[in-house]
Amino acid sequence: MRIGTRLILLLIILLPACKKENPEEKARAFFKAFKSNFMDDYWRHFPESATLNGYHAYDSELRIPDDSARRETRDFAGAILEKLNAVDAGLLDPRDRSDYFLIRNEMQSQLWYSDTLKPWAWQPSYYNPGALVGYMLRGRYEPLEARLRHILERLEKLPAYYDAAQASIRKPSKPHTEMARVITDGMIELLEKDIPDSLRQAGLYGSKDRETLDRALHAARSFRGFLDRLMEKGAFRDFRPGEALYERKFELDLQSDYTPESLREAALYEKEEAHTQILRLTQKLWPKYFAEERSTFSLAESARLIDRISEKHTTPDSFLQAIRRQLPELIRFIREKDLLFIDPEKPLKVRVAPKYLRGIAIASISAPGPYDKYENTWYNVSPVWEMDEEAAESYLREYNDYMMQILNIHEAIPGHYVQLVYANESPDIIKSIFGSGSMIEGWACYAERMMLEEGWGENSPELRLMYYKWYLRIIGNSLIDIGVHSRGWERDSVLRFLTEEAFQERSEAEGKWRRVQRSSVQLCSYFAGLIEILDLRDEIKSRKGDGFDLKNFHERFLSYGSIPVKYIRRLMLTETDEAPARDHSEVPDERR
Ligand code: ZN
Ligand code: ZN
Repeated sequence: MRIGTRLILLLIILLPACKKENPEEKARAFFKAFKSNFMDDYWRHFPESATLNGYHAYDSELRIPDDSARRETRDFAGAILEKLNAVDAGLLDPRDRSDYFLIRNEMQSQLWYSDTLKPWAWQPSYYNPGALVGYMLRGRYEPLEARLRHILERLEKLPAYYDAAQASIRKPSKPHTEMARVITDGMIELLEKDIPDSLRQAGLYGSKDRETLDRALHAARSFRGFLDRLMEKGAFRDFRPGEALYERKFELDLQSDYTPESLREAALYEKEEAHTQILRLTQKLWPKYFAEERSTFSLAESARLIDRISEKHTTPDSFLQAIRRQLPELIRFIREKDLLFIDPEKPLKVRVAPKYLRGIAIASISAPGPYDKYENTWYNVSPVWEMDEEAAESYLREYNDYMMQILNIHEAIPGHYVQLVYANESPDIIKSIFGSGSMIEGWACYAERMMLEEGWGENSPELRLMYYKWYLRIIGNSLIDIGVHSRGWERDSVLRFLTEEAFQERSEAEGKWRRVQRSSVQLCSYFAGLIEILDLRDEIKSRKGDGFDLKNFHERFLSYGSIPVKYIRRLMLTETDEAPARDHSEVPDERR
C-alpha cells in the first residue's frame, strides 16, 4: 500500500515537469487561484451581504444604491464572467465544476437583477437597511461596543443611502410600497429606541454619536414621508415582474431543471394524488369520529374531519415542553432505523423566539453561518402562552398533536437543523454561501415524507391525513406562485384554491395572497426542491437496485452543502459509489 501511494505521489510531482501544457491541470490551477481571491472580492463589493453572512471585514461600509454603484456591479460581475468564460468547466474536477456553475449563476443573477429586473426602481421594499443594523445590534460576533462603532459608521452614510433610494424609485408597485412602509418603520424604531438604548448601555452616547443618529433618523423619517406620498399619488405598476422576466427569475433563483410549466404539471398531478389519499383516509377515519353520521366522502367532509382531529392539541403552557420532549424521540427513531448520522456534538437548543423573530412563523431555526460554525443552533418557538386566547387556540389547532410532529421533523430533526449541521461541515465556503433555498426547503419537506415512509408515528392515519393537508400547502405554494405570476390569477382564484382545495383557513389564504404579491418564485422552492430530491432518489435506487442504502443516500446527499439539487445529482452520479459518504470512525460507538 505504502509503496503504491509513494509511486503515485512521485508521478504527480513529475507530471508537470515533463508535460507543461496539460489543459486539465492548467484549468484546475487557474480555477484554484481564481477561487482563492474571489470570495474576498465579492464581499468587498457587497459589504452588507458580507456582514449578514458572518464575514466582518467590511462592517463599516454601506453601499449607496445609485447609478454608479449599479455600474460597478455590472463591471464586477462582467469581469468575473469573462474570467469564467476563459475556463473550460468540463476540465475541472466535479466539485470545482459545481462551484464554477454556482459562481457563474450568482454573477448572472447580479447582472440580471441590476440591469433587467430592476427591483431598485419599482420595489421600495428593496431598501431595507434595518435588517442589516438589526442583525449587527443583536449579533454576538463582537463585543457590543465594537458592533456599535460599525453601526455608527454605517449610519453616517444613511442620509446618502435614502437620497439615492428616493432618486432611484420610479413607478412603484403598491404591495412593495406598503411593505416598505413597515420596513422603514422598523428602521425608525431601531434609530429612536434600540440603538440609543444600546449606546447608553455601552457608555458611548457622546455628542458626535447623537448627531450621527439624529441625521440618520431624519433621513429615515423623510424616506417614510416619501413613501406616504407615493401611496397618496397612487400611480402604481403591476406587482408582477411579467411573464418573460418571471421565467428567467425562476431559472436563476431555483437553478432547477424544472420550468414553471413542468413544475406546474407536476404540482397538479401531486394535488390529485393528495386528494385521493385524503379521501381514502377520510373513509377510514370517518366512523371513529362521526359514528352517528353517514358521509358522502367529499373534500368538504374531509375538511370537517380535519377540523375535528385538530381539536387534539396541547395547551399554551405545555407547548414548548411538548416540542422539547419530542426531539429526542425523533433522534431515537432515526438511530433505530439507521436513517442518517446525527452529530451529538452539535446539539439543537430550544428557546423562546427572540422578539424580532416572532410573528413570522410559529417555529424557526437560527443556524450559525459558515464563518462561525461553532455557534449554537437554535430552535425558536413563538410564545403561544403570551397570545390572546383566540389567537392561541387558532395556533394550537393548526399545530395540533399531529401537525406538531410534522413541524418538528421539518424544522429540526431530520429537517432544517440536521441539514444545516451537515452543510456547515462541508468545507467549501462557496457551496455554503451560494446555497440554494430550494435545496434547503426541499430537504425539510423530503424529511417529512421519508419519516412517514419509514413508519414514524406508528402509521397513524390521523398523522397521515394531517401530512397530506400540509403537503397540499407545499404543492399549493407552487401552483399559486405560478398561477399569479404567469397565468394572471387574481385574489379570488388564490382564495378559492386555498380554501376549497387545500384546506386552508381564510386568514391564512389572505396571508398567502399578500405574500405572493411581494415575492415571486420563492414560494415554488419547497415543492421544486422536494420533487427533485424524490426524482434523484428514484434514479439512484433504480441504478443500484438491491444495493441501494437509504442512510448512505441521505449522508451523501447532505455532504455537498446546500447547493442546488441538480448539482448534487451530478456529483452523486459521478463520484464512486463505493466510497463512504463520511468517515465517522473517529466517533466512539456509544455516541453515534
Ligand atoms: Zn381547542
Ligand atoms: Zn422550511
